[in-house]
Amino acid sequence: MKAGSSVNKQRICIVCPAGCRLTISGSNPDKLTVTGGKCKRGVTYGCSEITDPRRTVTAVVPGCELNACSVPVKTDRPLPRALIDKLLAAIYLTQVELPVYSGDILLENFYGTQVNVVATRTIK
Ligand code: SF4
Repeated sequence: MKAGSSVNKQRICIVCPAGCRLTISGSNPDKLTVTGGKCKRGVTYGCSEITDPRRTVTAVVPGCELNACSVPVKTDRPLPRALIDKLLAAIYLTQVELPVYSGDILLENFYGTQVNVVATRTIK
């Protein structure tokens, strides 16, 4: 959001399955108004969607050991949305040696964001 510009956006809150329809409006990024949510988490989510949108990323590290397996992974916290393509490119280039245990960090502190990519399944 650029300083001095006003915003009036609709978003579906993805924090829980209720999927509330949020309307985010205002001209000051520090004082946005969020309506339509059933709880405060929607306010936090709506504001972050305008000021610093982030996503938890899930993917699969492609084959290891002659394509005998692939390793499902996810970020351990939400990543700035602008970095998702770079992260996916890095994940697809990652080489994994077995065994891999659920929770193992395969990419650490991606782009200095403190976001790690961790395995979500143990593969021996
Ligand atoms: S606003 Fe609250 S209740 Fe609605 S989807 Fe978001 S987290 Fe769930």
